[in-house]
Amino acid sequence: MKKYVYLFKEGSAKMKDLLGGKGANLSEMTNIGLPVPRGFTVSTDVCTRYYEDGKVIADDIQAQIDEALEITEKEVGKKLGDRNNPFLVSVRSGAKVSMPGMMDTVLNLGLNDDVVEGLAQLTGNPKFAYDSYRRFVMMFSDVVIGLDKSKFERKLDAIKEAKGVEYDTELTAEDMKEVLDAFKTLYKNEMGSDFPQDPRIQLNEAIKAVFRSWDNERAIIYRRINDIPGDIGTAVNVQEMVYGNMGEDSGTGVAFTRNPSTGDKVLMGEFLMNAQGEDVVAGVRTPQKISQLKTTNVEIYEQFIKIAQDLEDHYHDMQDIEFTIEKGKLFLLQTRNGKRTSQAALKIAVDLVNEGMLTKEEAIMKVDPKQLDSILHPMFDIKALKNAEIITNGLPASPGAATGKVYFTAESAAKAFEDGEKYIILVRLETSPEDIEGMHVSQGILTARGGMTSHAAVVARGMGTCCISGCGDLKINEEEKYFTLSNGRKFNEGDWISLDGSAGNVYGSKLPTVEPEVTGDFATFMKWADDIRTLKVRTNADTPEDAKTAVKFGAEGIGLCRTEHMFFEADRIKAVREMILANNIEQREKALDKLLPMQREDFEGIFEAMGGYPVTIRFLDPPLHEFLPTDKEDIIALAKDMNVTYEALVEKGEELHEFNPMMGHRGCRLSISYPEIAIMQTKAVIEAAINVNKKGMSVVPEIMIPLVGDVAELKYVKDIVVATADKVISDNKAKLEYIVGTMIEIPRAALTADVIAKEAEFFSFGTNDLTQMTFGFSRDDAGKFLNDYYTKKIYESDPFAKLDQIGVGKLIEMACKLGKETRPDIKLGICGEHGGEPSSIEFCYRAGLNYVSCSPYRVPIARLAAAQAVIMNK
Ligand code: PEP
Ligand code: MG
Repeated sequence: MKKYVYLFKEGSAKMKDLLGGKGANLSEMTNIGLPVPRGFTVSTDVCTRYYEDGKVIADDIQAQIDEALEITEKEVGKKLGDRNNPFLVSVRSGAKVSMPGMMDTVLNLGLNDDVVEGLAQLTGNPKFAYDSYRRFVMMFSDVVIGLDKSKFERKLDAIKEAKGVEYDTELTAEDMKEVLDAFKTLYKNEMGSDFPQDPRIQLNEAIKAVFRSWDNERAIIYRRINDIPGDIGTAVNVQEMVYGNMGEDSGTGVAFTRNPSTGDKVLMGEFLMNAQGEDVVAGVRTPQKISQLKTTNVEIYEQFIKIAQDLEDHYHDMQDIEFTIEKGKLFLLQTRNGKRTSQAALKIAVDLVNEGMLTKEEAIMKVDPKQLDSILHPMFDIKALKNAEIITNGLPASPGAATGKVYFTAESAAKAFEDGEKYIILVRLETSPEDIEGMHVSQGILTARGGMTSHAAVVARGMGTCCISGCGDLKINEEEKYFTLSNGRKFNEGDWISLDGSAGNVYGSKLPTVEPEVTGDFATFMKWADDIRTLKVRTNADTPEDAKTAVKFGAEGIGLCRTEHMFFEADRIKAVREMILANNIEQREKALDKLLPMQREDFEGIFEAMGGYPVTIRFLDPPLHEFLPTDKEDIIALAKDMNVTYEALVEKGEELHEFNPMMGHRGCRLSISYPEIAIMQTKAVIEAAINVNKKGMSVVPEIMIPLVGDVAELKYVKDIVVATADKVISDNKAKLEYIVGTMIEIPRAALTADVIAKEAEFFSFGTNDLTQMTFGFSRDDAGKFLNDYYTKKIYESDPFAKLDQIGVGKLIEMACKLGKETRPDIKLGICGEHGGEPSSIEFCYRAGLNYVSCSPYRVPIARLAAAQAVIMNK
């Protein structure tokens, strides 16, 4: 019989797939003898079965849950529903990859009208008993039944106000009972029945609710943002409750074994006495620093410090630990590798290698390539900062600099982003998991409440987004869309502010930012990655400036220089338009003659910036109408310039109009119609290479013909290129090597790659077009309907961002294999957007590509992903 349920003592840290991260670590801690409340894990396989079986727990699984419960009850010496000796449990989610706050939890389960009285007697603490029960009624109603939590909160607030108290802890036992009764009445009014009293039913319903929460909207969004597959499911952990709210000798807290913002090797954390875990995270009361635990309870403090160090030594990584103190006894509720900023991730990885805790390869696997993004992003200009006014400050929850316009709800931030706003600062009282999408589109997050471990802080750090939390000076009026500071200053929606997430400072204006310097741990770490990787990393760059940035970030060549981008510049668009509007070859050649020196100069600049690294130059690709003016005034001006009538120009524009321009007259098709374009571009490339080589460089230009679907197309254009290039070389009495290759971006090219390789000396996969044409999705419009695909679970991710390995990937593999059959030393690369996306890079490594090419800022991400690909495939 298949095993579905595991006691903590039956599992281990290695079983994350089956037990989820939380369950596996609870098992591991149990087995190394740490004080973990007892319990069991219902495995991720049950989650899969739950959905397969039609959202029910099948009998064979139920029997295993019952058995595990019985064993745990015996070990603990308590029984679920026993008034005289009640067993109370927590029911928590826990997927293989941690998804903080995205799924549901039920605490204090097992309480009912009878048990609560027993608990009151047993503990001699009726206030605690009623408090626990009223928390349970609210959580169960919210999570399991789906009632609106805020209705319960309003009842609680009303009673607190009537009693004239600020904190829950100030309520008496009688008051708590009043809250409990109000909650139960609310439940009955909403549901038409009493609050469920049978603890077995409570437990089964809670387990199912956790499985359901795997598929709630915020979890789906979180998975999409973080690339977590949707079919792995969550486990459910059923664990004996321990109480941090049993009085002043009880408490609860969270700690990191190293600073999650900077990576410094110091224990960092927060705790609250007489509280449950949710009170710390919610930020309702401001927690104390972990070092203050020394004065509160020195024995517990020392015990905790030792355990924290042991856990870090055991896991060889920075740990994020949750603990509870129940009547002076310490319990561990969770440990996991802590989320951290990119700066901290690099520092910790380098330090752990230096401390002998990790090998370099292990350290390389510890950093998520995407995290590097935030390290490379701009910081405030120091000079501008000197004159900038700090209007208030809060906790430096997630580093980096952000400048933007204020928005007060996640929805309005998301809406602004959709409307094209690039500078968004989300300002909230505190964030909750519902805000995830709005947080994702924001450059920075500012909250009035919450500590370094609050939702906003944890999530922002994970996203690499700058965040300041706990800025108590803010008074937010969400409805009327403004906030004020204690000095009376007011900021409305749309006003500019700036955040320094490393210092916690808030500035009342827009501040310029500067490029970051990459040094220290970053350089050490990237060097290790470079030593391991075999894939080369190139960049997509069209200007000497971009090329220089990319080289600074470690690019080893240009994989795609889109020549048309140079055509749009003000000083040349006129000549381009003359070329397009020419009525005969003479007129066209005249226009092209004007473009030749400009293109030659562009290429010289790029070759020089790349200092001898290979450069792939792609010939003109887009449909020509893209270069023509569209509004009337511009057309009139152009007509005048070119000495033609307005009508003639409009007619020409109509002639160029296409119903499907992306499948129209573009790519190599342009050079087939107008060979003089290929001739001009060849001259520009070859002359530029000859010129820079005269200065002592040894450039071997790579000329790339786009949008080839048939070898005959390639051969036609290549013959022109070779004839032109060879003539230029001999006219100049120069020596120059060059190669000619093609993009593989039409499915037919992949299917006939063996024949195409007869002409092509290299292939570069243009996965933007290849995805577009394999799916039949317009790359410019698909975003409009892909959201429906995600919510309906047809797709988990955007195929234009993350390579579709099954379909498009099959074409790539086929083309690689066929290409090598014809030309064993054919050079293979990728230059579509996927060249900077980690999972796609891993695929490219497996497919046997020589290099990936991506935008300059993604070069470090690609270097790291390429190293990880080697390690993963060992
Ligand atoms: C591609 O199609 O993947 C590509 C790199 O070319 P472009 O995006 O310029 O069409
Ligand atoms: Mg393309």
